[in-house]
Amino acid sequence: MSTQHHRRPTCRLCGGKRLTEVVKLVPTPPANAFVPASELDREQERFPLDVFFCEDCAHVQLLDVVDPRVLFEHYVYVSGTSPVFVRHFEDYAAFVMERFKPVAGGLVLDIGSNDGTLLSFFQKAGMRVLGIDPAQEISAEATARGIPTICGFFGADKGAEIAAAHGKAEVITANNVFAHIDDLSGVVDGVRGLLSPSGVFVFEVSYLVDVFENTLFDTIYHEHLDYHSVKPLIRFFAAKGMELVEAIRVGSHGGSLRGIAQLKGGPHAVGASVAEAVALEERLGLDRAATLAKFAADIEALGAELNAVLKSLKAAGKRVGAFGAPAKATTLMYHFGIGPELVDFIIDDSPLKQGLYSPGMHIPVVSSADGFAKKPDYLVILAWNFAKAIIDKNAAFRSGGGKFIIPIPKVEVV
Ligand SMILES: [Zn+2]
Repeated sequence: MSTQHHRRPTCRLCGGKRLTEVVKLVPTPPANAFVPASELDREQERFPLDVFFCEDCAHVQLLDVVDPRVLFEHYVYVSGTSPVFVRHFEDYAAFVMERFKPVAGGLVLDIGSNDGTLLSFFQKAGMRVLGIDPAQEISAEATARGIPTICGFFGADKGAEIAAAHGKAEVITANNVFAHIDDLSGVVDGVRGLLSPSGVFVFEVSYLVDVFENTLFDTIYHEHLDYHSVKPLIRFFAAKGMELVEAIRVGSHGGSLRGIAQLKGGPHAVGASVAEAVALEERLGLDRAATLAKFAADIEALGAELNAVLKSLKAAGKRVGAFGAPAKATTLMYHFGIGPELVDFIIDDSPLKQGLYSPGMHIPVVSSADGFAKKPDYLVILAWNFAKAIIDKNAAFRSGGGKFIIPIPKVEVV
């Protein structure tokens, strides 16, 4: 077995051992492992991508854990480059300031702070800010831009270290990272030790309800260890001496959950959103493994449809490229078998990805100018959560006769 990965034997939230496999996806390399031309002859290791359901607490998760050093050290995603996310983080900071009214000048810590975009809005609102992120270049750049950022992983020890150096935190945020860390229990121990008595822990994760209802299966990749729902989280936080006070659905990543927790007995009343989310999850049957069999069937149906469309276009001699090279494209391309024989190139607006090749399949990533110069007839929008923005920005492609293919939540040619 690879030394870069292990399969955990227990549920990440409750420690239970009754785990049922509900979805089996095609193994992939790390979804963000884009490679330079100099490494094309080196085969990239692929890891299992199987989804499990905990029969004890209903948590849906991956058990195969790829070493975070393999996943995150050369992370090429920078949140500040996407205007949609900048706007999202601005609204996010405003929401936290308004709903919880943290003490002015208090500490806000963002776990997985990336380039510091979210923290910059808290800083503007008069808070003291601190980021922590494992990516070396990105954390150094954030610090240089005025957002002090520790390079490293957050856990119980780090929480105590930060509390000693900076005092207790009024707000701790963690976006998407709360689904990225194998030792969630250690993270929450760190949060509990660092949070002030009136403080809140705010996290955003993709929401199992949206993943299930819209077949967002490509959000399943090794960095995302957890597909959270509210019912298992209530139990998890309670066992950790904390309490979930809000569970709000937000639009990012095709549908996410913004959860907010405080120390047990904290000052904030539990909002109606928590009970509403549990009722919705029960109505959908997400607390039963059998329900997830439908999800697996929906994935296969979607793949058959997309393959049929692409193969007929290729047979008709059409030139097909793709637009957007997000991490989730790796899952979609591997599971649906969409490789270089169907898609010639991928356009991505991030200069950090241009000139690189897609993980494993090694499809070249090019700039818009270079991609459109190849005169594609069709472009598959792999970054489907930005479909509208991509279509609007590239109106000239459509007016010149080109068409976009949106693969998810359903296959659409526009
Ligand atoms: Zn469990």
